Parts: sequence; structure tokens; C-alpha cells
Amino acid sequence: MFTKKSYKRAKHVKSMFKFLKEKISSWAKKFSKEEAKKPEPREEIREKSEKQQKKIEVTEKKEGFFERIKSKISKTEISEQDFNKYSEDLQNLLLENNVAYTAVEKIIWELKRHVLGKELIKKEIESEIKNTLRDTIEEMMMNPFDIVVKVAEKQANSKDPFVILFVGINGTGKTTTIAKIAEYLKGKKLQSVIAAADTFRAASIEQLKKHGEKLNIKIISQQYGSDPAAVGFDAISYAKKNHIPVVLIDTAGRMHTAKNLMKEIEKISNVCKPDLKLFIGESITGNDSVEQAKSFNEAVGIDGIILTKVDVDEKGGTAVSVSYVTRRPILFLGTGQNYQDLEPFDKRKFTEKLGL
Ligand code: GDP
Repeated sequence: MFTKKSYKRAKHVKSMFKFLKEKISSWAKKFSKEEAKKPEPREEIREKSEKQQKKIEVTEKKEGFFERIKSKISKTEISEQDFNKYSEDLQNLLLENNVAYTAVEKIIWELKRHVLGKELIKKEIESEIKNTLRDTIEEMMMNPFDIVVKVAEKQANSKDPFVILFVGINGTGKTTTIAKIAEYLKGKKLQSVIAAADTFRAASIEQLKKHGEKLNIKIISQQYGSDPAAVGFDAISYAKKNHIPVVLIDTAGRMHTAKNLMKEIEKISNVCKPDLKLFIGESITGNDSVEQAKSFNEAVGIDGIILTKVDVDEKGGTAVSVSYVTRRPILFLGTGQNYQDLEPFDKRKFTEKLGL
């Protein structure tokens, strides 16, 4: 772990959506099969306005006899009753796979809007459902921005370093991710300095120092129990003096509900005036992560999200919901325990993994 020699190329997130992918697919299949089994509606009970009727007559005149038969037997309209019956299944499987309730509601609503009351070709119901789900999930996530571009923008206008404040709960991979970001920036020719501003947990200072040694990154720290805002301030002064373009500030992460913690982060934020505040959360904990992101966003206002441990998450629902719930983009995915296991987030690539 964490030796330079063990650097690997960031691996693809193979296990993600292991369950969701198969289940959505079989759900959509089942839905479309049930619809296909239904008898055709008789012409006379179809309620059409006069105008619509005329339109149908015109198009029917153009079609040959076989086309007319074919089109009659292959079209259907999904009723609200049927939709509700099937959407319950979908709702449950999304919830089981860590999609937050509000995100589930949005997905079902969009699906309903797209398939209900429309004359659909039976053969295409499955693809219509899948396309709608894919497009909805993609639209629900915010577009990520590029940190490197943001740093360059600041450099063009100021001599001050670009400051990134990292917030999140202990154990989610915050320290590791900060080290990964430092390494990522190094790869982009941007040196950084790390402020060990989690002065509450002595182990976190030691942990960062170990990362710093391995990566040859300067760690600014004070004693255990000292003022975190002062550590951040020191790191910024060090960066200014040594012309280091980026400062990465670690913060404590006792509990997202603890008022003191939020106050402490607010203080660091007021003193260090970060250019970005990034939330780090685990992909595997589902609603917990989403709730943490919400709390930090409400308390200190986050700009972006990094989701860790995506490599061991077989559900994927956290990523689908966290951006929608906070209206903030996911910037990176943590995909392993090595420094290079960090993937810039790509909405399209991500939704493709759903296989819809
Ligand atoms: P912190 O307490 O939030 O600073 O968490 P750490 O950085 O100490 O990480 C906690 C554990 O999660 C460590 O064992 C890390 O190696 C592991 N970890 C961090 N990021 C990832 C990741 O993306 N994937 C996996 N599988 N493990 C990770």
C-alpha cells in the first residue's frame, strides 16, 4: 500500500452497479413483456378528438394493409395503474441500491412523464424506459469543473496560492484522498503543501506526515490540540513564501451533526478563505454519505464532492443521488488504496456503466 513502486493505473470501477445494472434491465424487460402480452385496444373504445381522428385517417391512407395491421398489433399505451404497479418495484430496487429517496422520486417522476399516456411501440418500450432512466440519471448529476483550470485562473489574477479546504467524516478516506489530490496535482505540474488542520486526532497528523514523506510533499502541522485555523494560515504563509501554487487543508471530522465541528470548520474557512471547499464521503454508505454532504453543505457551503471507495461499492446509488441532493458536482472518484487510484468524474462514462 502507498509505496511509490505500487503505483498502478487507476482501475476501472468494475464492481459498481453490479446489482442495479442487472435489476434495472430485468425490470424494464418485465415491464415491456407484460405490456406486450396485453390485448390490443379496440378502435371504437379509443377516445380520440376529431382532429386526432382526422390525422390518423390521413396517415392510415398512406400505409398499406400490412403496415396497418402491423402497427396496430405493435402499439400500446401504458396506463397509470400499470405504471404505478411497476414503478413500485423500480422504487424498491433503487432504494435497495442506495439511491436516496428524493432522487428515487425524481427518477420515477421523469419516467412517468416520458412513458405515460404515450402511444409506444411495444418492441421499443424497454429501450424507451432504459433511455429515459439513463438520461434522467445523467441530468440529475451536476457537471464537474476542472480544479487545474480553477488554479490557473487564480494564478492569472493573483500571487496568492489556491486554497482547497477538505471536509468530511473520519474514516471515509479524507487523509488518503488529500494525498491522492496532491499527487494528482503534481502530475499536472502543480506543487502543493498540506495543512494538517485536524488537530483533534493526533493520528491524522502522523498519517499526513507519512503521506508527505512518501510523496515528497511538505506537511505543515502544529501540536495536537492547537488551533486548526492557525495551521491553515501557516500553510498559506509557507506557500506564499515558497511560491507553492496550491494549499490543501485537512480538517477534523468527528461527527457531521456536532455543532462544534461545524463551527471549527467555519472558523478555518473565515481565516483561510478557501477558493474551494470539497466534501469527501464514502460511496458505500449510501444515505449516510448523502446526509453528511447535505449537512456540510448547509453549514459551510461545499463546492464539490469526492466519493471514495467506489472500487468496493457494488450498488452505486450514492453517486447517483449525492450530486442531485446537494446540487454540487462530483469531481473525483476514489477507486482504491494507491495514490493514483483517483478518477476525474465523468458523467457520461459513469452512466454508461449502468449499461442502459
Ligand atoms: P480518514 O480517517 O477519513 O482520513 O480516512 P483514511 O484516509 O485514513 O482512510 C481510511 C481507510 O480507507 C484506509 O484504510 C484507506 O486506505 C482506505 N481508503 C481510502 N480511500 C479509499 C478508496 O478509494 N478505496 C478503498 N478501497 N479504500 C480507500
